[in-house]
Amino acid sequence: MKKILNYINGNLVEPSSGNFLDGYNPSNGEIYSKVPDSEVTDMHSAIQAAKSAFKEWSTKSNEERHDVLMKISDLIEKNHDRLALAESIDNGKPLWLAKRVDIPRAASNFRFFATAAMQFASESHSMNGKAINYTLRKPLGVVGCISPWNLPLYLFTWKIAPALACGNTVVAKPSEVTPMTAFLLAEICIEAGLPPGVLNIVHGLGHKTGAIMSEHPDIKAVSFTGSTRVGKEIAKVAAPLFKKLSLEMGGKNPNVIFADCNYDKMLKTTLRSSFANQGQICLCGSRIYVERPIYDQFKKDFVEKAKQMKVGDPLKSDTKVGAVVSKVHFEKILSYIELAKEEGGTILCGGHAVKPPGLENGWYVEPTVIEGLAPDCRTNQEEIFGPVVSIMPFDSDEEALQLANNSKYGLSATIWTENLSRAHQIAEQIEAGIVWINTWLLRDLRTPFGGVKDSGVGREGGWEAMRFFTEPKNVCIDFTHG
Ligand code: NAD
Repeated sequence: MKKILNYINGNLVEPSSGNFLDGYNPSNGEIYSKVPDSEVTDMHSAIQAAKSAFKEWSTKSNEERHDVLMKISDLIEKNHDRLALAESIDNGKPLWLAKRVDIPRAASNFRFFATAAMQFASESHSMNGKAINYTLRKPLGVVGCISPWNLPLYLFTWKIAPALACGNTVVAKPSEVTPMTAFLLAEICIEAGLPPGVLNIVHGLGHKTGAIMSEHPDIKAVSFTGSTRVGKEIAKVAAPLFKKLSLEMGGKNPNVIFADCNYDKMLKTTLRSSFANQGQICLCGSRIYVERPIYDQFKKDFVEKAKQMKVGDPLKSDTKVGAVVSKVHFEKILSYIELAKEEGGTILCGGHAVKPPGLENGWYVEPTVIEGLAPDCRTNQEEIFGPVVSIMPFDSDEEALQLANNSKYGLSATIWTENLSRAHQIAEQIEAGIVWINTWLLRDLRTPFGGVKDSGVGREGGWEAMRFFTEPKNVCIDFTHG
């Protein structure tokens, strides 16, 4: 049994209660790790350690901070295979995906923000020879970072790296469902020589540990990625305390396919945008709108290809769809498939649990394609976060736009067309934080990342993250003589 420990003030420690939660391997449904069931006292120790470490860390030169963060990035790369295997076992995702995407991106996050620390600058505003203003950008102090289970190390480091690069000290809480790589990151930080208290990682249940970040006066900002429900709870507590908040939440993203698209590229990418990581990426396109002239062709080809996707052992290289993250989530996905049937949907393929030989107790769901659902039904409006998509035809640009925007969410959207004017027009009017045209999940870490409506408040990525994790102060100097 692998035992995970908290990382507080530079040390790997047990939770003060001595209690641990069970950590599951989704591929076989077995308990394989012990996760600290931390309490308020553990969080308080972490916050105190971060507070004590702030002065020294925030006054280090940018170069010194850069060097430590680069060392962490290098060590993530050095441990690439070990981290990828840990991520796959903890989360159920195919090992090849963790190797190709999750772990390289975690290393990039540290490398990107290490260099950002060296480049970040603030503005000055001259007042026509009379005065000059300059802006100081100061770190906030102790900040809280809370992350979900779908891209565990990828999203955990996406928050921690910029927070540290700006000179803040951090208390971080990974998802209790997938804590393993955050624990391994703690070991890496120790090896990299990150000073004690600069980063503290507290494991445990959200309402017991994460919630403290919203209410504790010494936490100056909270960067959260997770569900809209929890984001709302955090905002309710933290907003009246005037904490800075960055909330990256759920999505129900439209994928709008016009008849004039590059069909082969669209089909290949749409399989990925529908089912990658078992559909458990906040950016997956789960509402697929297809222009009527190609609807039948698309339906035939897409369903045929979805049926061919091999569901099974995450450790096998030919597996396309691994296990979903937990029993609770597995049951939630299957219940949405039942709901889709009740709501009048036709299951074109999938719709069932899978029991791969030798892994019968794992949590696997077939890639599922549904048609015939009304735009307003729950299946088309609520985030399922599994390998389940619904397809619908449309007849005009106006209708496509109206359908795409018919959601309380607004995280990302994908548009497939070779018509440049149409692509720009729809991109401008679609209600989303990120729009991909003729691609999906093509990421440049310099760009603003986040959602609108119920998908989020604030932006991360590039300078947006550096601005979020700093407080601007204007200094005005009058240099006239009287
Ligand atoms: P979740 O909201 O249940 O949990 C996210 C994190 O918040 C976990 O670490 C959890 O322990 C913690 N938490 C729970 N209650 C809390 C509380 N009261 N106070 C503070 N922290 C608390 O989300 P999840 O199920 O882990 O992740 C799936 C969700 O994340 C989906 O909705 C998905 O769309 C979303 N997501 C969004 C993005 C994005 O960038 N917008 C990226 C990935 C995932």
